[in-house]
Amino acid sequence: MTATIIDGKAFAAKVRGKVAEHVARLKADFGIAPGLAVVLVGTDPASEVYVRNKGIASRETGMNSFEHKLPADVTAAALYALIDRLNADPTVHGILVQFPVPAHLSETEIVARIDPAKDVDGLHILNAGLLASGGKAMVSCTPLGCLMLLRDQLGSLSGMNAVVVGRSNLVGKPMAQLLLRESCTVTIAHSRTRELASVCRGADILVAAVGRPQMITCDFIRPGATVIDVGINRVTHEGKTRLVGDVDFASAVQVAGAITPVPGGVGPMTIACLLANTVTAACRANDLPEPEGLTA
Ligand code: NAP
Repeated sequence: MTATIIDGKAFAAKVRGKVAEHVARLKADFGIAPGLAVVLVGTDPASEVYVRNKGIASRETGMNSFEHKLPADVTAAALYALIDRLNADPTVHGILVQFPVPAHLSETEIVARIDPAKDVDGLHILNAGLLASGGKAMVSCTPLGCLMLLRDQLGSLSGMNAVVVGRSNLVGKPMAQLLLRESCTVTIAHSRTRELASVCRGADILVAAVGRPQMITCDFIRPGATVIDVGINRVTHEGKTRLVGDVDFASAVQVAGAITPVPGGVGPMTIACLLANTVTAACRANDLPEPEGLTA
């Protein structure tokens, strides 16, 4: 058996297209241009690339993009003053502070400062609470992207056994909450889980968000299961660097029913969902119906 390859790049392009349609409609019908503000502290080259790409992606959909670059030694007070201004600015619907930030700043406090309605990363505790209690949350982009891929691949997820390996606030926990909302029977596994392979073999849906290159081999996968590989790990082999997931793709593809590749699976969905969340935030801020197919 060879698994269906879930093409996240193609699906992400569709999501971006839908976002662009919604942006055009919001502008034409209501004179509203969704706006995403991205804040970068310092000059980390990887973060600079991410921020630039987010700006390009948002402008491509017709949104407004606001970039704010602050020096690495910016005080917490100055950063919070900027966040407060963005919170109050009606042309800004989404705010994202690029992490990691320098060690003298607290990521937890930064997230807490952002207006939960503009928290397009879905990290604010109010959004975590809303997601857990079934309310209208802003949902963390990567799990939202995984959910979209799963819905597209499987249709209804109701009654399926789902195992999420990883329990981070960014990926594992919101992923598990989303799957629970879809009426899956959800198990969250982590570094202390006993008999991990056996737990994973119970899954119709297996989500790997571990950060360990190729840890999930075919022995962890029930034949026919759908495997979502969130991992992005840079490994060097014979002097060459390449990206691999948390799943050992070569063996997993022989057993799974469907699987996301790395690269080209979950990765492209994350930025597409950032754009989707910004449109959702703009609609909610203006009491307009939420864009169909772009929210949880
Ligand atoms: P994280 O905060 O480091 O969390 C990793 C989780 O994996 C933890 O809950 C940890 O368990 C668990 N874990 C570690 N070793 C394990 C083991 N041997 N067996 C079982 N569980 C184990 O990482 P993250 O932020 O969730 O990210 C996970 C992966 O996704 C990384 O590769 C990251 O680069 C990638 N990622 C990709 C995207 C994307 O856009 N595609 C976005 C975000 C993250 P404990 O809690 O017990 O320590």
